[in-house]
Amino acid sequence: MDKIKMTTPLVEMDGDEMTRIIWKQIKDIVILPFVDLKTEYFDLGLVNRNATDDQVTIDSANRTKELGVAVKCATITPNAQRMEEYDLKQMWKSPNGTIRAILDGTVFRSPIMVKGIDPLVSTWKKPITIARHAYGDVYRDSEMKIDGAAKVELLVTYPDGSTKTQEIFNFKDSGVVLGMHNTDKSISAFARSCFTYALDTKQSLWFATKDTISKTYDHRFKDIFAEIFEAEFKDKFEKAGIEYFYTLIDDAVARIMKCEGGILWACKNYDGDVMSDMLASANGSLAMMTSVLVSPDGKYEYEAAHGTVTRHYYKYLKGETTSTNPMATLFAWTGALRKRAQLDGLKDLEEFANKLEKASIDTIEEGTITGDLKNLIDIPVKNVVNTEDFLKAVAAKL
Ligand code: NAP
Ligand code: MG
Repeated sequence: MDKIKMTTPLVEMDGDEMTRIIWKQIKDIVILPFVDLKTEYFDLGLVNRNATDDQVTIDSANRTKELGVAVKCATITPNAQRMEEYDLKQMWKSPNGTIRAILDGTVFRSPIMVKGIDPLVSTWKKPITIARHAYGDVYRDSEMKIDGAAKVELLVTYPDGSTKTQEIFNFKDSGVVLGMHNTDKSISAFARSCFTYALDTKQSLWFATKDTISKTYDHRFKDIFAEIFEAEFKDKFEKAGIEYFYTLIDDAVARIMKCEGGILWACKNYDGDVMSDMLASANGSLAMMTSVLVSPDGKYEYEAAHGTVTRHYYKYLKGETTSTNPMATLFAWTGALRKRAQLDGLKDLEEFANKLEKASIDTIEEGTITGDLKNLIDIPVKNVVNTEDFLKAVAAKL
């Protein structure tokens, strides 16, 4: 059989622990036998990040800006324990944070839906994708405890020395206060990433804030989204047959519970933090959540939403076989291959990505699963297999 050809390489970002093992298995078992795979390889495993003073992470993100599509394995974000375990020179920053800052992107998360693992919300028939604004608000705030009677004010100082003040509250007794911010630049980048991804996946976009109460702060988000939509995306949305829908956050939450899914839900930072955990647990398993970082100018980095599955890796090191679920990492590969195919006009490659996803979903729906799904799935299970045998079953079907 002739292998499927690629023209532009993917940026391949390898990672750590169990997902690094799975990474190689996915390539060997379900991709390389069928595709003449072209990648530019960056080793983001912690050992190499430490050896390169984390330059490899920066290089991989910059290369993604040039080539347009990356696929990333889960990576360790170092903490004190990892400093010791890997004898690190420094507590290197989270690679995802570094890459997100360089691409100025937004993360979109959606569940892989299969028959038998039904969402807890029975009206959801199609995946709901959440986009979380990843800058500012309460995550970059400045907080103070007020110990007794005190007048608290906002003070703005301009470069020419002129000032503006506004009273926040005149405390009669103790309490708390916080100041937070966001920037037009960050909100605009978030809006463009959301509109771009909605068009890309042909899904309507919902956005919600609390602008009736927060008449300046939240209203700014609403205005920026509306202005960018009118100026840059309205015609394209009409042509694609999708809509942009703005509402209040409480109304959005109520509607989400009654909708059938298949939409993109853009959330402010805090809303996205809370709602993405709600969505993930309503869909059953972290091992079935995919994630893609999209920059405002349409560069893509695909990955699994879960981490490096450390507990399984320590078992693997002891020589035990593990039944770690490769679905989310597999979908990172298919997402990246499909995007590359669309950008380069490669019909065969796009069809391959679609067929690989279908083969993996069919494998589960016909009863061959990894251990994590055993207690979640409501269909007759034939085999609970290890990761390698699961991938072999997918390859056989493919
Ligand atoms: P995790 O790797 O997501 O795993 C947490 C638990 O969830 C696992 O122990 C396992 O449960 C279950 N799980 C997750 N993915 C699974 C899969 N594919 N198949 C089967 N079960 C799965 O989170 P963590 O243990 O908190 O973090 C481990 C490392 O990952 C940390 O060093 C962290 O920094 C890093 N991390 C990286 C990313 C990223 O690169 N995007 C994201 C999050 C965390 P059982 O043990 O019960 O089987
Ligand atoms: Mg959270």
